[in-house]
Amino acid sequence: MTEICDLTRNRKPLKPAELPVPQPGPGQVLVRVRACGVCHTELDEIEGRTPPPELPVVLGHQVVGAVEAAGPGAGRHPLGQRVGVGWIYSACGECEYCRAGVENLCPRFRATGRDAHGGYAQYLVVPEDFAVPIPESFTDNEAAPLLCAGAIGYRSLRLAGIEDGQRLGLTGFGASGHLVLKMVRHRYPRTPVFVFARNPAEREFALHLGAAWAGDTGERAPEPLHAIIDTTPAWKPVVEALANLAPGGRLVINAIRKEDRDRDRLLGLDYPRHLWLEKEIKSVANVTRRDIAEFLELAADAGIRPEYQEYALEEANQALLELKERKIRGAKVLRLE
Ligand SMILES: [Zn+2]
Ligand SMILES: [Zn+2]
Repeated sequence: MTEICDLTRNRKPLKPAELPVPQPGPGQVLVRVRACGVCHTELDEIEGRTPPPELPVVLGHQVVGAVEAAGPGAGRHPLGQRVGVGWIYSACGECEYCRAGVENLCPRFRATGRDAHGGYAQYLVVPEDFAVPIPESFTDNEAAPLLCAGAIGYRSLRLAGIEDGQRLGLTGFGASGHLVLKMVRHRYPRTPVFVFARNPAEREFALHLGAAWAGDTGERAPEPLHAIIDTTPAWKPVVEALANLAPGGRLVINAIRKEDRDRDRLLGLDYPRHLWLEKEIKSVANVTRRDIAEFLELAADAGIRPEYQEYALEEANQALLELKERKIRGAKVLRLE
């Protein structure tokens, strides 16, 4: 990525480039990339909602590859070990947040593919402590979307705080939503899941995966819901979700940034209908290494495999555009040879 731009005007924001193979520094490993997931956050970077501090930068934060070399002092992973790198590239390890197990909130949090070069490339270097071994049961392509869509979905579900049997809503049903549905069916088998999506194909996909109900974003669920997880880039789903919450219910917004297009919807916020009766709103920020590791373990146990479409690295612009235009079914993965 070389510049901030509007993807509807510049349909090829990523340019191919020949870069030298990076050298792992102290405590870092060199990873040869085999697959990298495509995430909505890349759109937020390209369109300037969470801009990289320096350009050009290599995007990509759902990276699966093999350790090919270790820098000075690095010895945690044997050469050849398959590892994954998610959105968390590093955190300071010393601040109050890092010490309290919420390194995702660290003021010195650095993100893969934004604050450091990511996985839309043949190689990347990463601090070895932030590279996570991948369970054998997954292929490279299956593992990639688990590293962000899955891990942040796992964090969202933790923050939703539901108990087995409570009713859960999902508004938006892309890469993360469909993995959350699979997680819920394993971990909270008595919890019915209600899916809100404006695209009929997504609703059908949700029912196919076991959702109890699926409707359009503006519809009312048949019963009020204890928690709803929002994975959309828009505001209308936030307002509608609040109207669907039961008293004391919680809305968890899993989005690094919201788009401004329908911001005026917020003026429709009606205190008694949307917020009163102790409804809560909580956002999800980043992920911790623990989220990634625990989710991979859960996914392996539960046999959770993401549905994905594969693209060549050269097709990255097309994959991003299809994501932008919500031509989504499951996740998107760039495959490197
Ligand atoms: Zn992501
Ligand atoms: Zn810290």
